[in-house]
Amino acid sequence: SQLGEAQEGLVISRFGQHADIEASDGTVQRCNLRRTIASLVTGDKVVWRPALNTQDDIKINGIVEAVHERHSVLTRPDYYDGLKPIAANIDQIVVVSAILPELSLNIIDRYLVACETIGIQAVIVLNKVDLLDDENREWVSELMTIYSDIGYQVIEVSSHTGEGMEILTNTLEGKVSVFVGQSGVGKSSLLNSLLPDNEKIILVNDVSDNSGLGQHTTTASRLYHFPQGGDVIDSPGVREFGLWHLTTEQVTKGFIEFKDYLGGCKFRDCKHLDDPGCLLREATNDGRIAESRFENYHRILESMEQVKPRGNFT
Ligand code: GDP
Repeated sequence: SQLGEAQEGLVISRFGQHADIEASDGTVQRCNLRRTIASLVTGDKVVWRPALNTQDDIKINGIVEAVHERHSVLTRPDYYDGLKPIAANIDQIVVVSAILPELSLNIIDRYLVACETIGIQAVIVLNKVDLLDDENREWVSELMTIYSDIGYQVIEVSSHTGEGMEILTNTLEGKVSVFVGQSGVGKSSLLNSLLPDNEKIILVNDVSDNSGLGQHTTTASRLYHFPQGGDVIDSPGVREFGLWHLTTEQVTKGFIEFKDYLGGCKFRDCKHLDDPGCLLREATNDGRIAESRFENYHRILESMEQVKPRGNFT
């Protein structure tokens, strides 16, 4: 079919050999992909051409011709393909935690290491603060200074009462974010309270099939626009993004406040455990490094050891 002029576009969602592309005029156009396109995921910036003689019963409005270089990419391990991209051009990862089901600093630390390793800025959101009485609220806020002290933004919110949501809204503005965190911490609730009614996120078997192209579910990631500015890319896969296989060095670098103490230990091959003259241990003992961070560092390394024999993902 005849094609119109090449133009810029943004991948809103991709499924099989098709993708929904947002044109510069804001409309979303369903496109085929040129065979030469090796990989295309939500968040990719593309060049596409509109089809001039679309037939209504086919509903393909154009073709994607090229993909621009990504400044960041989220991947997940795939049994056959190694690391598989799931979202592109992300600026910020919002690590959501909450007092319920449990406040796990270990899980927060694992996400932070993953963010540091791929080089995407992390923000910590503590949701469900409405569940805390004054005393517990103070205790949790104090606990979270572990993270603000080393440079991470921490936002305390409640998607139920709306507390803190303005700060979160401002943090999301002008950026492409993803929300990660344990199941049940309130990611859907937060996103749905930030998104307009016609953009609500429904994760379970959301079969939207008015395309005539066969059903697809929201297991494919999708990009949503926040009305106050900024975008989010969401999907079950994106939410489960985490630590796959990392080297000891990557884990160590992932604890950003450790850098001041590395290289100065008495022994060059210091494991930062009970080695004499370990600067990390000293800093932890006198409170310059939070004890939980030091412990979680070793817990993460141990869990990496356990994956190694099976893992092919290097
Ligand atoms: P997700 O698995 O991370 O997407 O979590 P959901 O958004 O499904 O929320 C899990 C549960 O936590 C639901 O029962 C929500 O109603 C509840 N929840 C979410 N946000 C809040 C909040 O700010 N306060 C309280 N008390 N409960 C919340």
